[in-house]
Amino acid sequence: MHSILIADDDEDIRKLLKVYLKKLPYKIYEAVDGKEALVLVDKYEPDIILLDVDMPMFNGFEVSRTIRENQKFSLIYIIFVTSRSHSDDKVLGFNVGADDYITKPFDPKELKVRMERGIRHLNERKNANIDSLTGLYNRYFFNVYLVQIIESSKRYKQKVSMILIDIDFFKKVNDTYGHSAGDKILVEVALFLKGFCRKTDIACRWGGEEFVLLLPNTENKDAAKIAERVRSEIESMKFPVIEKLTVSLGVAEFQGDEELWFQNADLALYNAKESGRNKVIVL
Ligand code: GH3
Ligand code: MG
Ligand code: MG
Repeated sequence: MHSILIADDDEDIRKLLKVYLKKLPYKIYEAVDGKEALVLVDKYEPDIILLDVDMPMFNGFEVSRTIRENQKFSLIYIIFVTSRSHSDDKVLGFNVGADDYITKPFDPKELKVRMERGIRHLNERKNANIDSLTGLYNRYFFNVYLVQIIESSKRYKQKVSMILIDIDFFKKVNDTYGHSAGDKILVEVALFLKGFCRKTDIACRWGGEEFVLLLPNTENKDAAKIAERVRSEIESMKFPVIEKLTVSLGVAEFQGDEELWFQNADLALYNAKESGRNKVIVL
């Protein structure tokens, strides 16, 4: 089910929008000002935002600009719903990241088709950025997000680490229990990683039976502790059919050179495999 955030300081408009959207299978959140809108975006990561412009605290333009500064929210579909009908406002709205712009008073039929169009775009974005089997971000998204993380780590002089995770002897799982059993296990591991991540971390499917966690604001030492928790929690999980599963993990901190960072993480993972698997190695 898709989730929608209605951000408008006018209670009547919020009610009206809810009435129009009620027949559709959306989960609806409401914000009464720009500040609350940003808090709810952070908390719930809604799929679509119906965003008023003139609101207390931050106006809709500021809200949209702030959301678009974070790559993590790049899939969110933003529709301005505002009484500002001047083309300068529309231009500004699109420049701060809007996907669509509806002027008040609006015709419910128009709202409906624009929402449907929004959902179509959203689904395309998800298909391009999210791995269809596991629901984790894919490598494409990871690479785009990485640019933002490296930039902000340089600007704010913050550490950033990554953990490469590779399932041990996964080929044997497929060979013994079949590919679809293997798929189910990948989904379980992905669900665990998703739940394990902190708000600022992201978990991606790197490919096949490999995953990567990107940990902003985290130095090697702490990333190693996190990796060790991942290792031991997966070791103690009970999986369908195979019961037990282990992973090997390579940890590396960004030291100013992206290529070296990946090489180090790769090498750490390789060493974890070579030295017996079910291990964390830090470089
Ligand atoms: P190691 O401990 O050295 O990592 O051994 P491994 O068997 O896990 O590694 P290897 O690279 O030899 O094999 C990885 C296997 O992962 C082979 C491939 O069939 C399987 N795999 C990759 N992607 C998928 C997938 O989407 N679904 C399933 N079921 N299996 C997959
Ligand atoms: Mg208003
Ligand atoms: Mg493997």
